[in-house]
Amino acid sequence: MQNSDFRDGCAFVRGNFVPIADAMIPITDTGFTRSDVTYDVVAVWDGKFFRLQQHLDRFEKSWQAIDMRPGVNQAQVREVLHQCVSKSGLRNAYVEMLITRGVPTAGERDPRNFINQFYAFAIPYIWIADAQEQQQGVDLVISKTAERISPQSVDPTVKNFHWGDLNRGLREALEAGAKTAVLLDNDGWVTEGPGFNIFAFVDGRLVTPASGVLLGITRQTILDLANEQGIDCEIGELGVKQLQSADEIFLTSTAGGVMPVRSLDGQVVGEGKPGPLTMSLRELYWREHGGDRWTEPVAYGDPQTKISLLAS
Ligand code: PLP
Repeated sequence: MQNSDFRDGCAFVRGNFVPIADAMIPITDTGFTRSDVTYDVVAVWDGKFFRLQQHLDRFEKSWQAIDMRPGVNQAQVREVLHQCVSKSGLRNAYVEMLITRGVPTAGERDPRNFINQFYAFAIPYIWIADAQEQQQGVDLVISKTAERISPQSVDPTVKNFHWGDLNRGLREALEAGAKTAVLLDNDGWVTEGPGFNIFAFVDGRLVTPASGVLLGITRQTILDLANEQGIDCEIGELGVKQLQSADEIFLTSTAGGVMPVRSLDGQVVGEGKPGPLTMSLRELYWREHGGDRWTEPVAYGDPQTKISLLAS
């Protein structure tokens, strides 16, 4: 049930639901001190989760990949997420789930001995690009100062907090008067940026990088929709020259959907405004948020829902 304390958001911390402003983790949690954490973010739009099952599957894959034992299963995570949104009463929400390695006991250096912690929270929906930017397109740069961390070091398919490279690219973009940056890998291929995947429409094909990136759920949704529209898609290598010659470029993220790019390194992309393919995929993407096939209504105040989680 909605409670005014939860109006700005609701978090699940160590077995309890608390107002977002009161949600705290111990300062020694290695999720904070060592970025030893994995997480996922799902959107709620107009009272419905979008592609929740895909987010839960990716989250579980991530926690298994880095040997976390969260003490919860998918069904319990789902229930907590419903409760966080329900308690907040939010109709459009940004819903995050996390597992941290946890707090070491004094002197303990072996992470296998830590008790992993599951957290979650729901806050008002976040837009990487605001409504005006989405209508006009955002200015993108290719980062010259930051290279994407090698997948051999940090697996980008396991959603993570190793944002040193992405943050550096973002600062570079902002200093250059742009909105955000895309990073290249060590071989010079285009990868992704702070919180988004990238697509380029080149020579009549929609291209998105195959590797060195998070397998974004929004990226997958765009591939699904584009395939249904009979648009030729390629999941492969995306080079700088291809990006520079693209007729359209857009970014995809749970936090903002499909975001058109109007300039790349100060050069106009296409006609310098969102292109027709980008806008039609964007329209289809948001239309699906009101449909049934990929949505799950939030259990607002559902008396059937019982939290079966144990406080840890
Ligand atoms: N790439 C990175 C590095 C991200 O952090 C995100 C989302 O936060 C994405 C891509 C987009 O993924 P999704 O569409 O699942 O939100």
